Amino acid sequence: MMDLLSILLFLIIAAVLFWFGYTLFFRLPRPRGKPMAKGGDIEGKPGDPQTCPVCMARLPPGKLVKSAVYPPGSGGDRIMHIMGCPYCLEGDAEKRRPRVCPVCRKAIADTEYLFARVFERPGKSHVHVLGCAKCRGPKAMR
Ligand SMILES: [Zn+2]
Ligand SMILES: [Zn+2]
Repeated sequence: MMDLLSILLFLIIAAVLFWFGYTLFFRLPRPRGKPMAKGGDIEGKPGDPQTCPVCMARLPPGKLVKSAVYPPGSGGDRIMHIMGCPYCLEGDAEKRRPRVCPVCRKAIADTEYLFARVFERPGKSHVHVLGCAKCRGPKAMR
């Protein structure tokens, strides 16, 4: 009864090949869904254009980092005071993101701000965070 055995073997091979083809075909083109937005997903990298330097939150378009530039106006390298973003300044105190100085890693109060230097360039300007009042020293206060 070799015929029955070879047919059985053929069927098994066919089934295995079909299974392989099936899984390959249905696995490869499956698009990976976007990960659900969790609390940590708004985390950005320092230096990202839309990232709050106080709490490292990645800001959606429309949400802006609150800051003030001294002296006001334009031209020359100036000092910027960065207060924070809606995620670390507004809303319930428990839900706010922790405010941390990116230079010395110390916590900063709601009333404190970061010092940054603004380098004006044609087309775009660069903001370099110098630190908070604690690590910048009293001579940086103005
Ligand atoms: Zn923030
Ligand atoms: Zn600091």
